[in-house]
Amino acid sequence: MSIATAQQSSGSILELIAQAKTRESAMFTEAEGKTLLSSFGIDTPQGVELELGAPVPQHLREPLVVKAVSKTLVHKSDAGGVKVGITAAELPAVTEAMKASLAAAGHQLEGVLVEEMIPAGHEIIVGAVRAPGLGWTVMVGLGGILVEVFEDVAFGLAPLNDTQILGMLNELKGMKVLDGARGGIKADIPALVDLIGKLAGPHGLLAALPDDVQEIDLNPIIVSESRAVAVDARFVVGKVEEDAAATTRSASTTDFSPLFRPARIAVLGASGKRPNMANRFIQNITAGGFAGTIIPVNPTADTLEGLPAIGSLAELTEPVDYAFVALPGGRVAQALSTGKGMVRFAQVVSSGFGEVEEGKELEAELIRTVKDAGIRLIGPNCLGTHSSAGKLSFVPQAPLTAGTTAVISQSGGLSVDILRVGAASGIDFHSVVSIGNSADVSAAELLAAHLEDDEVQVIGLYLESLSIARDVMDVLTTAVTRKPVVLLAGGRTQGGSRAATSHTGALAGNHRLWPAIARQAGITLVDSIGDFASALHALSTLDLSVKPAGNEAVLFGNGGGASVLGADALDRQGISTTPLPDAIIAELESLEVPPGNGFHNPIDVPAGTLAVKKGAVAEDILGVVLGGTEPAVLITHLNVGIIQRNLGATHGDVTGTIIDSIAVARDKSKSNTHQILVLKTDGSEDTEAMITDYSARARKINIPVFATFEDAALATRAVLEQSIQIHQPTLSAKGK
Ligand code: ADP
Ligand code: MG
Repeated sequence: MSIATAQQSSGSILELIAQAKTRESAMFTEAEGKTLLSSFGIDTPQGVELELGAPVPQHLREPLVVKAVSKTLVHKSDAGGVKVGITAAELPAVTEAMKASLAAAGHQLEGVLVEEMIPAGHEIIVGAVRAPGLGWTVMVGLGGILVEVFEDVAFGLAPLNDTQILGMLNELKGMKVLDGARGGIKADIPALVDLIGKLAGPHGLLAALPDDVQEIDLNPIIVSESRAVAVDARFVVGKVEEDAAATTRSASTTDFSPLFRPARIAVLGASGKRPNMANRFIQNITAGGFAGTIIPVNPTADTLEGLPAIGSLAELTEPVDYAFVALPGGRVAQALSTGKGMVRFAQVVSSGFGEVEEGKELEAELIRTVKDAGIRLIGPNCLGTHSSAGKLSFVPQAPLTAGTTAVISQSGGLSVDILRVGAASGIDFHSVVSIGNSADVSAAELLAAHLEDDEVQVIGLYLESLSIARDVMDVLTTAVTRKPVVLLAGGRTQGGSRAATSHTGALAGNHRLWPAIARQAGITLVDSIGDFASALHALSTLDLSVKPAGNEAVLFGNGGGASVLGADALDRQGISTTPLPDAIIAELESLEVPPGNGFHNPIDVPAGTLAVKKGAVAEDILGVVLGGTEPAVLITHLNVGIIQRNLGATHGDVTGTIIDSIAVARDKSKSNTHQILVLKTDGSEDTEAMITDYSARARKINIPVFATFEDAALATRAVLEQSIQIHQPTLSAKGK
């Protein structure tokens, strides 16, 4: 619709809102809602609201539908307030019956809405509900039993473009039904997408609605072969909730490199009498080889941890890049105020700020102080910043091998686990920043900086707040540079968060909104710290200039049962293991190897075959596969204990040779196939030790290694999802 019409209708929307507030239901009448819908080009049935006893106007074509009008009625059918397929002549009798059944349910019939009956089609529910910090969340589901019982719904965040709307529809398990499965009606999907776009698109109705409108249900929309018509409309007016994300973000101008490579660090809070977190911080970075200057700040001590101290930041003669602040909460602002113009980043690990009600004012004061002092604040209520290249860390014996994986974490404790578990999984970190309350520097701002930083190639996020995730989404959907992003989200199981009048409100739980944000932002969402580490390990180890196509895997390794389980694990992540073409199988069969091999897919060979050429046979086998096909991934799995115990004495380092052969076959073929390795343990100490060595060897030649098929399958999904984002920035990301 044109802007002019949108403005015209916004005046009348305010009137509708005022009227709705006078009703017990707090809703627009159905007729009002439908008029509003049609002013935005959304198809609704022809109809009129009639006073009791009034005749049906000539222009309405039978069959007709009669619906009760009553201030208190919400679910009309439940109270006998809907009658479909009647003639005009039947209206008086229908009205009488309706009056009685409404009275029995405690409602008074005030009038009737008479409208044309829309021919049969699929019943779809489309709804929208405002969520604090997120704006409009939009739901689509298949009406009737599929929504009620199976809750087969998909969510998205407005504004939505057509590609995103189609993406939501495709997420529905019942989508096949819409496509006309088993001889049913083939729904006019483009008409449905168009309707949802008129509601939730950039210029749609939602964008024009004032804050007072909180929930909308179009339940159902009847989608036939040639039309999508909203036959019911519920607009709920409610209290405006405070919108945490309503603040507009201004683009960051901060250069974060001094944070990750600080030359001078001030430490506030270390004690000469009772060593605490700040003392440990100094000990940790000293032990880690931090090469710059550490300046303890303490009003009473001359030296701390063997280093000369200054009394306050006012005594600084040169700026510091990073101040680690572990003072009692109440003293932080004052202490930082003395560092005006002399501190680039201050990380306040102290708690007792905005995370508790009584600390809100303290946090506001802290923000005012750092703004005034020209300091960028990280935290408060966090643990610190880890930067491998900067030899800066908040954990003892931190893994400091510099890498390309940057993590931003809303939880301090978990950021320690991320570092430890991640390093054990083969991740070399660029950085891990624990952002705590993110009162100043936000996850979105750091992410934007990482996207511009060549030293960062893969980004991991641990978030607990949907509104922070929404800010992250906004950065990703408008960013020029795209990098793989993996999200571990905390608090995903919470159910519907509000007492809702609408279906949509009842279904808009966190567990549905996280996947919606992840899908729209092109982020891979994972469930556990192990999965987080697996995904980041694969993404940071593989050469991501490779462009895998499709979602097929070839499995190669020893152990028939293992292969079958591997294929199952892949299948659960949506990756298929289809048989190889006959020509390739024939070529594999012509290789000079002992009998007993299965050359379909999975390619499953006994240890005796792997021993051929002391393991270098792997190069031949993989060469044949990559010469004739181009699966998205080729997963080699080796039972290291069995191979080395059976073959080690006679054939030497077969496992190592196989690993090297994978890289040789990969490099020779130049195919768009990623190589992934699963090294299975038998639990013995010897084997575990060998696996540690082999894993390091494989990683050096850009082959990620996993202990189980489940981990490898999860990582494969992450790699395939993120490859799409990197190589073909989707319309979902750009078409706003
Ligand atoms: P409720 O308040 O109970 O949700 P609805 O207005 O959705 O009432 O009507 C109940 C059902 O009647 C709908 O789910 C739909 O199947 C059918 N219906 C309502 N209006 C029409 C119409 N104009 N054409 C065809 N079917 C309709
Ligand atoms: Mg309805």
